[in-house]
Amino acid sequence: MPKDAPTAQLESRIAKLETQNKVLAGAVKQSAHLRQMWTKALDELKATKAQLQSSKNFLDRILQLAPLPILVIGRFGHIRFLNQAAERLFGPSTTLLGIQARRLLTPSGRGGLRERIRGLSTSRFGELEVLTGQDEVRLLEVHWAKWEGGGHGLHFILLANDVTAAREAEAELRIAKEEAEAAARLKAQFLANMSHEIRTPMNAIIGMTDLLLDMELDQTQREYIEIVRSSGDALLSLINDILDFSKIESGKLDLEHIDFSPRVCVEEVGDLLGQKAYSRGLELVILIRCDVPEQVKGDAGRLRQILVNLVNNSIKFTREGEVTVHVSLEGASGKRARLRCEVSDTGIGIPADRMDRLFKSFSQVDASTTREYGGTGLGLAISKQLIQLMGGQIGVESELGKGSRFWFTVDMDIGETQPTEVVSRDIQGARILVVDDNATNRRLMREYLLGMRCE
Ligand code: ADP
Repeated sequence: MPKDAPTAQLESRIAKLETQNKVLAGAVKQSAHLRQMWTKALDELKATKAQLQSSKNFLDRILQLAPLPILVIGRFGHIRFLNQAAERLFGPSTTLLGIQARRLLTPSGRGGLRERIRGLSTSRFGELEVLTGQDEVRLLEVHWAKWEGGGHGLHFILLANDVTAAREAEAELRIAKEEAEAAARLKAQFLANMSHEIRTPMNAIIGMTDLLLDMELDQTQREYIEIVRSSGDALLSLINDILDFSKIESGKLDLEHIDFSPRVCVEEVGDLLGQKAYSRGLELVILIRCDVPEQVKGDAGRLRQILVNLVNNSIKFTREGEVTVHVSLEGASGKRARLRCEVSDTGIGIPADRMDRLFKSFSQVDASTTREYGGTGLGLAISKQLIQLMGGQIGVESELGKGSRFWFTVDMDIGETQPTEVVSRDIQGARILVVDDNATNRRLMREYLLGMRCE
C-alpha cells in the first residue's frame, strides 16, 4: 500500500534527523579528543613556563650574588638594571633605574666617552673613573657586551671590577722599585768611583815597596817591607773584588773577545799560585786534556780571574793533600766550544745545607767575626756572574771533611788560528814509564803523553 504524503514526509525528516544525529555524535567525539589534546598542550605549556621561571630565578640569583657590579644600560644610555654589587657601589636601584648611566662617571671619566664607545671593538671597555653613592672616586675596569634579545631593543651589559686598590698598590710598587733601582745604581756608581780612587794610591804603595825591596835593607827592614807588600796585595785584591762586583751590578762590565790559548791561561794560574800551594805543603796539579782547542776567542783575563779565585779558595781551605785543576772540552758545535774546568781539593769541604748560599754575594760558610778564614764572600758571586756572562754555569760537589770540587763551563768561539802541532815525531808511539810520588801527577803526565800519542 502506497505511503500517504504525511508519512513519507515524516520518514524523510526522521532520516535527516538521524543523519544529523550521527554527524553530531562524530563531532562530539572529535571535540572530546581535541579537548584532551588542548588540555595536554596546556599542561605542557604550564610546565615549560614553570621551568623557565625557575631558570630565570636561578639566573637572577646568580646575577644578584655575583661579587662584581653588573649593570644593564638601554640604547639611549639609561640604567635598566643593577645587581646587588652595583647597588652597594652606586646606591639603591630605586633611585638609579632610569637615570643616565653617564651620571655615575666623574667629569674626567666622562671625557671622550663618546669616542671611546664608538671605537669599541673588543669586549673590554677599559678603565673608567666613577663616583660612588658615598661620593668616593673609584677606578673600574669595565667589560661589556651588546644584547638585543627578548624584544627589548638594543641593550649593553656592563661588568665592572673595582681596580682602585690594585692600581694604587701597583703605582706604589713602581715608585718603590724605581727608588730602589736608583739607590742601587747610585750605590754601585759610588762604589765603582771609590774603588777606583782607592786603587790608584794602592798601586803606588805596592810599586814603591817593590822598589824598596830591590834596595839594600837589613833583615828587619826587609821583613817589615815584605809585610807591607803582602798586606798591600791583599788589600788590592779586596778592592779589585769590590770594583768588579760593583761593575757587574751596574751592568758596566764588558768582556773581551780576542784570541788566546786556554792552555797558557790555565798554566799561568799554576805559575801564580804554585808557590803558595807549595809553601803550605800542598800539591797543585794542572791537567789540560789534549782535546781542548789551542786557541779560543774570549776574555783570558776574566777566565784566569775565575780560576785564580777557585784555586785560591781551595788552597785556603785545604790543610793537606792536593788541589787539582782539570780542563776538558765538554762539547763543540761548529765554531763554538764549551770548556769545562774543575778545581778539586782535599780540604775541609762544605756542609750540604750551606751549598746553595755559596754563590750569593757576601756569603761565607762561617760568617762569624771569630772565623778562622778571612775573605769577603764576593769571590764566588763574582765568578758566577762572569761565568754567566760567558754563557756558562757553575756548580759544586762537596763532602764535609773530605774536600770540594767546583766546576764551571764557559762557551767560547774556537780561534781562527790553530797553532801547528809541536809534538816531536821521535816520541810518538814510544812506551814511557812515568814515575812520581804523587798519583795525580802520574795521571797528569800519562794524560799529556797519551795526547802526544805515546804508549
Ligand atoms: P771568600 O773566600 O772571600 O770568603 P768566596 O765567595 O770565594 O769568598 O767563598 C765563599 C765561601 O765559600 C767561603 O768563605 C767558604 O766558606 C766557602 N768556600 C769556597 N771555596 C771553598 C772550598 N774550596 N772549600 C771549602 N769552602 C769553600
